[in-house]
Amino acid sequence: MTESLTFAAIPHASPTPAGTRAALIEKPDFGRVPTDHMVTIKWSVDKGWHDATVLARGPFQLDPACAVLHYAQEIFEGMKAYRTADGAITLFRPEENARRFNESAERMAMPVIPEELFLAAIEELVRIDADWIPAGEGGSLYIRPFMFASEVFLGVKPASEYIFCVIASPVGAYFKGGSKAITLWVSEHYSRAAAGGTGAAKCGGNYAGSLVAQAEAIKNGCDQVVFLDAAEHRWVEELGGMNIFFVMDDGSLITPPLGTILSGITRNSIMELARAAGHDVREEPYSFDQWQADARSGKLREAFACGTAAVVAGIGEVRHAGGSFAIGNSGDGPVTTALRDQLVGIQRGNVADDRKWLHGVA
Ligand SMILES: *Cc1c(COP(=O)(O)O)cnc(C)c1O
Repeated sequence: MTESLTFAAIPHASPTPAGTRAALIEKPDFGRVPTDHMVTIKWSVDKGWHDATVLARGPFQLDPACAVLHYAQEIFEGMKAYRTADGAITLFRPEENARRFNESAERMAMPVIPEELFLAAIEELVRIDADWIPAGEGGSLYIRPFMFASEVFLGVKPASEYIFCVIASPVGAYFKGGSKAITLWVSEHYSRAAAGGTGAAKCGGNYAGSLVAQAEAIKNGCDQVVFLDAAEHRWVEELGGMNIFFVMDDGSLITPPLGTILSGITRNSIMELARAAGHDVREEPYSFDQWQADARSGKLREAFACGTAAVVAGIGEVRHAGGSFAIGNSGDGPVTTALRDQLVGIQRGNVADDRKWLHGVA
């Protein structure tokens, strides 16, 4: 049944006028400007996936006992649609988002969604809201697929009903101030994830638990928090929503291994591009002590964070309860810049897509 699911379309009765839309997508704040539509697909134990619909974006009506409001059975993805110079619309490795979404679903005891249905839902939304994709440099349409437990029941168990939804929002550069290097706050008190926990799943709960640490980072004048492992508070893991790379003086790159971190599609792509460019790339534990020593000695030349939203962000300074240290020349280093340019170039259709990472939306 699921294979033959067709989308009912109930287009917005009064979509945003072109002039208003043009003003809204000129300098959008991340995630603040909604497009006109959304996609919803329901799932229940009895019917499986059903009622796929493209409709005007609007609020859900939820009973106060809706399961997600109590036990946080919720997962999401983040991806972008780009308008290339020749006017085509592309997605970057969306099959990877589909796969990861289902890995998150399995971890959270939620139903998996056929990858082709996940991709079809995204394409439906991108097509109907194509005019919301900003054309300018750095602009894209941020797409947020998510799924939540919608069953009305206060018992603690995997819900028997879910809603899958896709919304979108035009975005510009993620960090205000463009590609200026960011400052990180090392959280030595709070952890993001523990072995056996949900760190490798893209679930809302991970973010809820990271917000107090992020608030601490902001209070200390930093852009983002970086977490250490939960067991020893010693090994660098990742940021609240981005993976991290270290560039050493011999040209090699180090990034923390999978397990309690999110397996970023940007992280995977960077590893592949860096290896192809001749860098030795190692997924290995890197301690906070080593990080400080290497930054001081100059063995560490560059560091950067990466993820769909910000793509690649150079790390200029690191602060913690006991002091602070600078990395390299405190700006974007040459390796960071080269990898960012190559990745962004592929995403925007300006660099040859040798690996077939782009997925066209007709
Ligand atoms: C989404 C996310 C990332 C980045 O993943 P991408 O696929 O590169 O966007 C990294 N860390 C966490 C915790 C995330 O939620």
